[in-house]
Amino acid sequence: MVTYGYLCLDCEQEFEIRMEMADYAKGFPPQCPHCHSEHVVRTFSSFNVLTSQSSRSAPQSCCGPSRGPGCCG
Ligand SMILES: [Zn+2]
Repeated sequence: MVTYGYLCLDCEQEFEIRMEMADYAKGFPPQCPHCHSEHVVRTFSSFNVLTSQSSRSAPQSCCGPSRGPGCCG
């Protein structure tokens, strides 16, 4: 099961639909549970988990907390 997030363009309500990927591939028509409109757009899916590598592992420099003499001016 994958959770797909949608935004209804008619009533501007966000909702989620859980379905199999096979159903989604078959063109499962999502419907807004609030106004039953099919005028919806995808907002996200739980498969879309991109882990951004934001860990900066700076190379050892002499400007750290244990800087030696003659470093950093
Ligand atoms: Zn709606």
